[in-house]
Amino acid sequence: MYAQHLRCISCNNVYPLKQMYTCPDCYGALEVIFDYDKLIADNAVAHLFQEVKPSISQYSPLLPLEDPEKMISLGEGGTNLIPLQRISGFVHINVFLKNETTNPTGSFKDRPIAVAVSRAQEEAIKTIVIASSGNAATSAAAYSARGGFGCIVVIPSTTPMMKVSQAQAYGAFVVRVNGSYSDCYKLAEEVAEKYGYANVTTTYLNPYNLEGDKTISYELFTQLGYQVPDWIIVPVGAGPLVTGIYKGFQELRYLGFTNQMPRMVAVQSKKCAPIVTSYEKGEKSVDAWTGPINTVASALADPLRGYSRDGSYTLNTILSSSGRAIAVDDIDILNAVASLASNEGLFVEPSAATPLAALHYLSKEGHVKVGDTVVLMLTGHGLKDSQSLHGRLPDPEIIEPKTHHLISLFEASQIRR
Ligand SMILES: *Cc1c(COP(=O)(O)O)cnc(C)c1O
Ligand SMILES: [Zn+2]
Repeated sequence: MYAQHLRCISCNNVYPLKQMYTCPDCYGALEVIFDYDKLIADNAVAHLFQEVKPSISQYSPLLPLEDPEKMISLGEGGTNLIPLQRISGFVHINVFLKNETTNPTGSFKDRPIAVAVSRAQEEAIKTIVIASSGNAATSAAAYSARGGFGCIVVIPSTTPMMKVSQAQAYGAFVVRVNGSYSDCYKLAEEVAEKYGYANVTTTYLNPYNLEGDKTISYELFTQLGYQVPDWIIVPVGAGPLVTGIYKGFQELRYLGFTNQMPRMVAVQSKKCAPIVTSYEKGEKSVDAWTGPINTVASALADPLRGYSRDGSYTLNTILSSSGRAIAVDDIDILNAVASLASNEGLFVEPSAATPLAALHYLSKEGHVKVGDTVVLMLTGHGLKDSQSLHGRLPDPEIIEPKTHHLISLFEASQIRR
């Protein structure tokens, strides 16, 4: 294994590769450090980026697993990169969609969870616990099923019902908490500590999650013909996805594959935007969101109460990359959902449509330049939250089975023909 140890990103103390969540000295987050020089010396990475295969296990030298053969995998990753085709308004910008909706449970969360659950298996832990806004819960439930773990899911009572049923279908024990995501986070943390369960919550808490997220960068690098995109636009709750993708490109640079780096753009809903608020004030650290939370982007509704340091880590990634943080209106998010589905054939959940809303803003304001390559992260499938479209789509007419009825209604409609 090329992973060497965990290192605190605040005080640089190092710790063995164990199930560990925060630095005992300073409560900083931990990250996995690899022996990159040995990876180069052993020629262990040269062949890794030639093609994209249908599981992140193809990148095993860069994953923190003792025994990659035993990795719990359902074929996560290896997702398509699709050029934007029919949505107009971005003249001479190369826009690509990274379609994470085709992951086994329908969101990118399968990548971090595959790594975190496989790590728990290596440490012979039998029970998984997770706090989630929904998608990570469904991933944890599925990978626990596959690996034969018990799985406790702690989610806010406002989580879309489809995600609740999905987690239950995989056999998880699901509780809905009368509170926000942050209340769930605290509960999962307490239960994991007291009973020795593996906490795979996908904030910066479990250091192994980021190692799954970073595989997106390897795929993008290969899919773009060994180029690094100028911009990557990412929907953000706490933001480990942003930092994970950035870490992947830092590794590619360190390993000598490129000297380019992307600019990372974080998108939040205006109705829960702690990271964007600090970015706009020019601050270096993030405060928890104290206002009400009521957004269609439920997967991003993380007020960071009790762990606002996570927001600061994300903000640091954004600033280091010369990127930006943008908050978008819920109405623009729903319009982006409709636009991606009806123009591109891609039905995503509201949170996953926020990058398109943000790109409209970025290009209108002149931040994205002619010739730039932009990747929009389509993080989760629309079927996971189709209730968000309720009231926006008409109820289809019920008719007698007669051609003239059908055609007269079709001709009276506004639908493309
Ligand atoms: C979890 C999630 C995000 C946000 O990712 P974080 O790295 O947790 O901030 C974005 N989109 C969807 C669909 C998600 O499920
Ligand atoms: Zn520390």
